[in-house]
Amino acid sequence: MPDRTPHTPSRPGAADLVIEGGTVLVHDDHDGIGFAEDAAVVVRNGRIDAVTTAAAVADLPAAERLDARGRAVLSGLINCHTHAPMVLFRGSAEDLPIEEWFNERIWPAETRLTDHDVRLGALLACAEMISRGVTTFADHYFAMDEVAHAVEVSGLRANLGWAYFSSMGPAGRERSLDFALRRRGGAGGRITTSLAPHAPYTVSDADLRATAGLARDHGLPVHLHAAENREQTEHSLARHGRTPIETPHRTGLLDVDVLIAHGTGILERDLPVLGSATARVGVATAPRSHLKFAWDTTPVRLLRSIGVPVGLATDGAASNNTLDVWESMTLTALMQKAAERDPRWLTARQALDHATTQSARALGLDGQVGRLAPGGHRAGGPHRAARPAGARPGHRPRAQRPLRRRTHHRRRRPRPHARPPPADPRRARDHRGDPRPAARPARSRPRRPRSALRRLSARCHCPAVASR
Ligand SMILES: [Zn+2]
Repeated sequence: MPDRTPHTPSRPGAADLVIEGGTVLVHDDHDGIGFAEDAAVVVRNGRIDAVTTAAAVADLPAAERLDARGRAVLSGLINCHTHAPMVLFRGSAEDLPIEEWFNERIWPAETRLTDHDVRLGALLACAEMISRGVTTFADHYFAMDEVAHAVEVSGLRANLGWAYFSSMGPAGRERSLDFALRRRGGAGGRITTSLAPHAPYTVSDADLRATAGLARDHGLPVHLHAAENREQTEHSLARHGRTPIETPHRTGLLDVDVLIAHGTGILERDLPVLGSATARVGVATAPRSHLKFAWDTTPVRLLRSIGVPVGLATDGAASNNTLDVWESMTLTALMQKAAERDPRWLTARQALDHATTQSARALGLDGQVGRLAPGGHRAGGPHRAARPAGARPGHRPRAQRPLRRRTHHRRRRPRPHARPPPADPRRARDHRGDPRPAARPARSRPRRPRSALRRLSARCHCPAVASR
């Protein structure tokens, strides 16, 4: 069970922030999670200083105090694999097998994207993730300087990789390396970077081997898709006599830190291969996109049995339709129960653990994010209490998750205080007898919801965004 021992604030003096009285999610070192009632979190210098009892901080001076009674206090969620700008394609390719989805819809549209489109898409995606409690994400796309800009202005934390195919020639790999070195440590340390070959079936063995060498030389992790589905695995076996997991092993990618996206085609014969990795291996599972493409599910139980952390992800919004990690938790738990034919696997608590600590471990950010513990980063900043946001391009509305109704969509109802209450009986009679509609009380400007996107707009100097 998690350690419930209160951690005393380390230093005297005023804290930056005290969150007190809430039910705090706590983790132990053995993948156990629990909830500490009437607890408190103390933040100093942007980091968590203590997780303790509310009573212990009752007299602690603080620049800001949040009353969390009746609420849960969690670490920020982590989206372990996405393509943020693809919110622009949400609903544009529905009910299709992956080959048609990619070759006939998505890839032709992506070739027409401008850098500016990518910037707008990334900003929208950041706003959507913030509204769903995500504070860290791993992104794998193109024009990644635009995504880095969105990370800078949003206050989020991200691992970013500029994707490439072998069809791009050596320039693709060199651009990925250049980006990774240039942006590493950016946004005040909130940006980490990866090399990002697309997948073993689109990047040659020679390029994967070269990527492993660059990763080793420069101390960079690698983020790629592999064994995305069973068909890919069968195709690889038929064509090369090895699985899509054995290819990274042969090319040296399992000797550097690597994050594998999807992995629904991982076989039992892959387990010794993954287990023999000499560096960190993590797998990201995106259950909603797996369901959409009628794939199997990632073998979470097998991977955990050999100590491979499995993070939760949403993939891009073109395949997953949301960037909601809460939904990934629900679907992971349900799909694992069905796949294992065991209602005890995987529990809601385990799903929460996957979305936090397991994801942090898969990204190599364990100890910094993913749990509320002394030394961890504060997840706050501009995105506390943000309203839901989401890009809804006009492709197939039925495929897009309805968002909460906004103020201007609601039917206006008579305002109970539209007429000022009469002050005396004589005026009350006059008031009732007046057939004219009462004038609305004057208000200088209509109030608009302060959405996460509007918060980002205020911080972005891009003209098209700033003018919204
Ligand atoms: Zn992906």
